[in-house]
Amino acid sequence: MWLQVAVCLSCLLLGAQGQATFLRANDRSGRCQYSFTVASPAEDSCPTAGGGPEMEALRSRLTVLESLVSRLVSGDAGAAGAARAAPDAGLPEAYTRVMGEKSQLQQDKERLGRQVQVLQRRAEEQRLEVERLLAKPCQPPSAAQKDQRPASGSNILSHLVSQNRGQSEAGGATDPAWQLGNPRYQEVKAEVTEVPAPKQIQEGSQDSTGCGELVWVGEPVSHRKAESITGKYGVWMQDPEAVGPYGPQMLWRINTVGAEVRELYGYEDMDQLSRGFPTKVLLLPEPVESTGAAMYRGSLYYQRRRSRTLLRYDLATESIAARRDLPHAGFHGQFPYSWGGYTDIDLAVDEQGLWAIYSTNKAKGAIVVSQLDPGGLEVRRSWETNIRKNTVANAFMICGRLYTVASYASPNTTVNYAFDTATGESRSIAVPMRNSYRYNSMVDYNPVQRKLFSWDNFHMVSYAVRLGKPEAN
Ligand code: CA
Repeated sequence: MWLQVAVCLSCLLLGAQGQATFLRANDRSGRCQYSFTVASPAEDSCPTAGGGPEMEALRSRLTVLESLVSRLVSGDAGAAGAARAAPDAGLPEAYTRVMGEKSQLQQDKERLGRQVQVLQRRAEEQRLEVERLLAKPCQPPSAAQKDQRPASGSNILSHLVSQNRGQSEAGGATDPAWQLGNPRYQEVKAEVTEVPAPKQIQEGSQDSTGCGELVWVGEPVSHRKAESITGKYGVWMQDPEAVGPYGPQMLWRINTVGAEVRELYGYEDMDQLSRGFPTKVLLLPEPVESTGAAMYRGSLYYQRRRSRTLLRYDLATESIAARRDLPHAGFHGQFPYSWGGYTDIDLAVDEQGLWAIYSTNKAKGAIVVSQLDPGGLEVRRSWETNIRKNTVANAFMICGRLYTVASYASPNTTVNYAFDTATGESRSIAVPMRNSYRYNSMVDYNPVQRKLFSWDNFHMVSYAVRLGKPEAN
């Protein structure tokens, strides 16, 4: 009874304050049911009927919004107009920029995806290659093999390469990783011609351009050893006149063992080449033949496989920018260097531009050297020498002169001929040069570094050189 009275009094009291809602309704059983709602103590203690600081802030923001809407609708000029114009003008630009960045990121993602695929494919090929080689029965190397390749067998990879080559020589190539087929692909033992004693050379007397005749080749310095048998032979390069997007320190490398050579690896600098993975992997649209490629003015120049076609691959667009047949040039084992390897066409760069070193039927195997137009690959001028191409191990150009290396395998060989395109004359020289690893498959000159780059039995090697002037007789 007292509880009911207390409830009724509370209802009356709250109702009198106007802060409670009183409701009456019938429940399911038809009985009358009373209920009421009371504001919480916090709300009830608000100092004003308007709702307190939160409501005041809300009102203030609403007022600002109403003011802005009003000014926008009325097209108010002045500060509000300027404030409106700025975002309107900036929005499309920001949108374009964001979409551009998105597109660039998408392209980067796709490019990285392609690079990953290339590396994965290469890793899988090499794994299968090693498995195949390991599955073959071991055969002791013949005496002839020992004589020809004294450095082979010094490590696992060399051992595998020697075994594979021995089997190929005995019964023809059956390993698809090698695809040798034509025995001319295998190294042909050099028939090195003994050369007469050289003229006395006067060192250090270069001309005003820094050019001169080669008078000294330094000791080989190895910068990197290839990781797999695909790097037994190869070519590595640095662009002496690099243009974007790569810097002048960028180094490039192609492993040239294999039936379908298309990977071009890029390294930021010599240090990266020596210790790291490539920072760039490009898949060339058409396969490479041999070790005669050259890098010049932002393009890779190379001979297309099984053809006399020269290609200019532009690094910026990652596409073939020019192609042209080198007229009458032998290819695919017709006029190789003494070590073989389909080294019919050898491209070179020096202070005077881009050159091709090759031979033709008309020249009957003698070295022909042509200066090429770097843009369209046309032959500007050609010289026929009296140097038999298959009697020398390699060749390179310095200051418009052609030089040849006597042996690819002898640890102590010489640069044995010089042909001067300025005079059309060749002569024998004997500048000592070392083949540290006894299987030198590529030698080229870099006019900026003033060094020879070579690829000697898995090793990427450089040699310092000195230029001078031969002493007059
Ligand atoms: Ca060369």
